[in-house]
Amino acid sequence: MKIAVYPGSFDPITLGHLDIIERSAKMVDRLIVGVLVNQAKTPLFSMEDRVKMIQDLTKDYGNVEVRAFKGLLVDFAHECKATIIVRGLRAVTDFEYELQLAQTNKVIAPDVDTIFLTTNLKYSYLSSSTVKEIASYHGDITPFVPEEIVEKIKEQYKVDH
Ligand code: ADP
Repeated sequence: MKIAVYPGSFDPITLGHLDIIERSAKMVDRLIVGVLVNQAKTPLFSMEDRVKMIQDLTKDYGNVEVRAFKGLLVDFAHECKATIIVRGLRAVTDFEYELQLAQTNKVIAPDVDTIFLTTNLKYSYLSSSTVKEIASYHGDITPFVPEEIVEKIKEQYKVDH
């Protein structure tokens, strides 16, 4: 059984993330989306909300599961019995950081490999922080995130952040 984890902050999930989930889920028996609980950053959405949103969006996929995690990514991969970490690459600016992360993880967990999916060209410019910035100025975010969560994001900016 081939199990992969796709880790990220997903704050919020974008169409670019969803595209990676859809494509990688086809390559493995089971894909576990790992939602990072990052104590250093105050997220726009709570961990529970981020998990729930991704669960709702992926409920028809069959082999996708969503879990929250904290701590080392490789520990999470081991817990999930995963041998693959999936990451998305948008542009050359992602490359250096991602390579360093993948190589470090390989040293501490030689049984786990990182695979990179290049972004769908349609979404290569897209990031959660761009979405947040546009939403904070009440701009139109419908081209960037699944329509099911547009209102939820807008709602967050009705109160102060
Ligand atoms: P992190 O904080 O770990 O970078 P993100 O939620 O921003 O978490 O991203 C999770 C993963 O998804 C990363 O591998 C990132 O490169 C990838 N990713 C983010 N946006 C896109 C996109 N538009 N297209 C493809 N991959 C993306």
